[in-house]
Amino acid sequence: AARIKRYVINPLGHKWTHHNITYRILKFPNTLNVDDTRKAISIAFTKWSDVSPLTFTEVTDGNTTADIAIGFYTYNHTDCWWSPLHPCFDGLNGELAHAFLPPRGEIHFDNHEFWILGRSRFSWKQGVWLNDLVQVAAHEIGHALGLWHSRDPTALMHPNATNTGQRSVAQDDVWGIQRLYGCLDKKRVCDPWARLGFCERRRSFMRKNCPRRCDLCLQPLEAVATPTPPPANVKLKLVPRGKVVGFRCGSRNPRSAPKVSWYKDGEQILASIPGYIVVKDRDLRIIANEFNEGVYTCRVHRRGDAVSANSWAIRLKPEQASNS
Ligand SMILES: [Zn+2]
Ligand SMILES: [Zn+2]
Repeated sequence: AARIKRYVINPLGHKWTHHNITYRILKFPNTLNVDDTRKAISIAFTKWSDVSPLTFTEVTDGNTTADIAIGFYTYNHTDCWWSPLHPCFDGLNGELAHAFLPPRGEIHFDNHEFWILGRSRFSWKQGVWLNDLVQVAAHEIGHALGLWHSRDPTALMHPNATNTGQRSVAQDDVWGIQRLYGCLDKKRVCDPWARLGFCERRRSFMRKNCPRRCDLCLQPLEAVATPTPPPANVKLKLVPRGKVVGFRCGSRNPRSAPKVSWYKDGEQILASIPGYIVVKDRDLRIIANEFNEGVYTCRVHRRGDAVSANSWAIRLKPEQASNS
């Protein structure tokens, strides 16, 4: 069976426009010393630099600004209302951290928690959970790089990764980050190999070691995310920015609830993204903006065959220039 991608890129397509990313730790935690905190954060960044063309450098000198600002804060900070990624801090336990997409890219940890360098465990002596800073930081860094939550339970970007203790980047996370930033050649001898014709003759070997040199970066995804061409009967809708647009798929009175799948510009919509796209069975709703323009298609399946399809092309109404 083909592997299905489950990662979600943020719907606005926010990402860093450069690859040499800097970070700064503005405020250190109460429960972990400065050296171990630095070490944990650095290990967490390495998990992403190992599988992407990104590099991460800590900035310590006070005059230089960094891309990603990191801090440990208590709950008298309420900016979490603006971050859709994890709700507000709640004292001990519960929410551990939250992050903002690029270009804000901040990561805030709950300073009421007990942070450690090492695997999360319960301390009987102190009667509290000690949280693995590397693990939580690695997940939050994924957000600060532009990834939303994945539906793959083995992914680091799964919302429960902190509870399951998932510590390393999984294939789904790799696909997600490479979708945003491109892939990485692990070997330094890709050029000579490519000249020897390895891209054609030793495809799977090169996909593993030199995907970039051979243009095989998104190979695993293309196999599953085959663009589905929109059907001929596309209805064009011109909508004002900010309007909520709803679509309903299938006939008015089906005898049995049909199985429906939704696509945007040929790519299947696998999950709702709160605030942007909501999918519920036969209904799909979007909030019209620049990023939601495009062709939405629904397909009705019966016994595995697509029996009908509808498409709507959403375009924003040009805004009237007010030059009265
Ligand atoms: Zn915050
Ligand atoms: Zn998260």
